[in-house]
Amino acid sequence: MAAPSIVWFRNDLRVHDHPALTAAVERGGPVIPLFVFDERLTAGRWASANRNAFLVQCVASLGEHVRKLGSNLVVRAGRPEEVVARVAQEAGVQDVFVTQDYTPFSRARDRLVAKELGTMGARLHARRGRLIVEPEDALTGTGKPFEVFSPFERRWMKVPREKCLPAPESIPGITGITSDRIPTFAPTASSLIEGGESAARARLSSFVSDGRLGCYASERDSLAEPATSGLSADLHFGTVSPLEVASAAGATWEPGVRSAKGSEKFVSELAWREFYAHLLWHNPRVLKENFRREMEYIPWRTAPGEFARWTNGETGYPVVDAGMRQLRETGWMHNRARMVVASFLTKHLLIHWSEGEAHFMRHLVDGDVASNNGGWQWAASTGADSQPYFRIFNPILQGKRFDPDGEYVRRWVPELRDVPATDIHTPWTMSGAAQSEAGLVIDRDYPAPMVDHYAARARALAAFGQTGSR
Ligand code: FAD
Repeated sequence: MAAPSIVWFRNDLRVHDHPALTAAVERGGPVIPLFVFDERLTAGRWASANRNAFLVQCVASLGEHVRKLGSNLVVRAGRPEEVVARVAQEAGVQDVFVTQDYTPFSRARDRLVAKELGTMGARLHARRGRLIVEPEDALTGTGKPFEVFSPFERRWMKVPREKCLPAPESIPGITGITSDRIPTFAPTASSLIEGGESAARARLSSFVSDGRLGCYASERDSLAEPATSGLSADLHFGTVSPLEVASAAGATWEPGVRSAKGSEKFVSELAWREFYAHLLWHNPRVLKENFRREMEYIPWRTAPGEFARWTNGETGYPVVDAGMRQLRETGWMHNRARMVVASFLTKHLLIHWSEGEAHFMRHLVDGDVASNNGGWQWAASTGADSQPYFRIFNPILQGKRFDPDGEYVRRWVPELRDVPATDIHTPWTMSGAAQSEAGLVIDRDYPAPMVDHYAARARALAAFGQTGSR
């Protein structure tokens, strides 16, 4: 009988469409499914109680799926280079299978693990599964990484796809390998979505079948509606594979064959996720500096008091505050709101994008190093294919356009519950009589805007424009 192998799960906490798991099962011999809690991720500077709580549910759910297939999930805590090697030694393992990961942290970690395994004659095998298209398969005609999304997407669409793999029929188990208990983590958000493969698959099938996918192209920006898939945390933790999501959403890869409008737009968003993952793979430096080096001279401000007002959702701009409070309460924020609050921090307040990036990482249940950095640098106009620096979102107009009835604002900013739709995005302009009718006193119950939009816009234009002319 073949020696046992290990499948070391990380951000791929599923049994369906899992090439590393399939490879281990097909190799023959018992398979040890392993998950390692690494304190650098669960307690490091970007750790999030919300993500930890979600992760724990995903790991527990993986344990159940694996048990149903005949094996037991082994859970350990510690440094992977020590833990993986120790488990390999305990069980006489020579082959460890993983899903390829792309961040600078994971690449360094995996190099160490591979080295450690190498000293005992064992090998680390990486398989696809976190992305639909690998970074080396989507390059320009001259073999360079893309820096602009549209040509990237055109190339990305043409790369031949793998087939989605079914879950293995069974996973041959092994006894005698001890497992720690799954730790518990209390989230800071009061309501988090449920984590795990079953929950993710249920979310995917309802998104595809309940009409949201069909209306995705026209409704996805609507702040008050649950019009998007809500799959970002599932994709981040890999409880469902991106290939399976795209396939279920009706992606057609044949050149010249167009999918329905909703599918096309949705798959394009999945391509954005991959654009940012590839960008980070090719440019790990973006975690430390602007992608566009010529933007290095922006005179960012240090303003802890203003930053705190932004994080607390007390800027006085209702749509910004609603977004920030949605993040605090649920660990998730609508994409349109993410764009608006990020623009507000970096342009209206001229606070460095990395401060917002870190705050998001500490709260988002879907906090993903590549997409988050990409989103922040896009909003700050310092990123690849980011919005031009002179495009500064007007938080009043954004509110009127994407939350015309004020439903989103009222949901997250209860102080404004009784403000009519005509004033909901500009409550400070209400007369005293109108304020008292809405049970509101500006600056007592809800703040006046912390900066004047037009003055802040002019300041940002001057700051960014000066940079651009260097
Ligand atoms: P849907 O609209 O249903 O989209 C489907 C999937 O496509 C998403 O789950 C996500 O995986 C991907 N996607 C959609 N939009 C984007 C985008 N603009 N960039 C990259 N991928 C996208 N997304 C994260 O997953 N993690 C993050 O940490 C993150 N941080 C962000 C920070 C900022 C400042 C901005 C502007 C965007 C950020 N995004 C991030 C992208 C986007 O906001 C979320 O992916 C989306 O809101 C998740 O909701 P959904 O699953 O319902 O998305």
